[in-house]
Amino acid sequence: MSDTRRAPDAVLVDRIRNAIRDVPDFPVPGILFRDITPLLGDATLFRDVTDAMAEPFAKERVTHVAGIESRGFMLAAPIAQRLNAGFIPIRKAGKLPGGTARRSYGLEYGSAQLEIHRDACRPGSRVLVIDDVLATGGTAEATAVLIEEVGGQIVGFSFLLALDALHGGARLERFDVRSLLHL
Ligand code: AMP
Repeated sequence: MSDTRRAPDAVLVDRIRNAIRDVPDFPVPGILFRDITPLLGDATLFRDVTDAMAEPFAKERVTHVAGIESRGFMLAAPIAQRLNAGFIPIRKAGKLPGGTARRSYGLEYGSAQLEIHRDACRPGSRVLVIDDVLATGGTAEATAVLIEEVGGQIVGFSFLLALDALHGGARLERFDVRSLLHL
């Protein structure tokens, strides 16, 4: 993190750490799943987290907040409201009804495809991308490609937590990437 960035509030980081449930061997053996549902269930913490994820981008003239299905949706919608921005769903293949752009990508567990509506952005759209966990970075990288393919400009990425051992940030080096908690 560069010196010019303000670190997330240490008390908030501890509250987040305490509200994430580690579930071993889910959804497949060998994966330690970081379950954010206890955090979402705490009204004050949910609000404080979405405020803190939005804050670094408050002056960036964000026009749209893109949420990655599905846990990214839960965080992105309130962040879009905070930033007075629209919401763009980045969905798994076959879910969006309109014309789409599609991208395949590798996951920490398995592989998948993501889609965006082709009319989700206009020239000049400034998009902040939101997800719960940055792991290998494949999901986020595919999302960046999709947003740029449909004409959006990416302002940055804001994650609740980053699994630093998986070095997902290396795939997003050209972007402003923030994470409240590093595990
Ligand atoms: P990746 O593409 O490897 O960065 O994976 C990120 C996506 O997979 C995010 O949408 C996360 O919600 C999900 N994910 C990956 N690893 C985990 C994990 N250990 N716990 C919870 N979600 C995860």
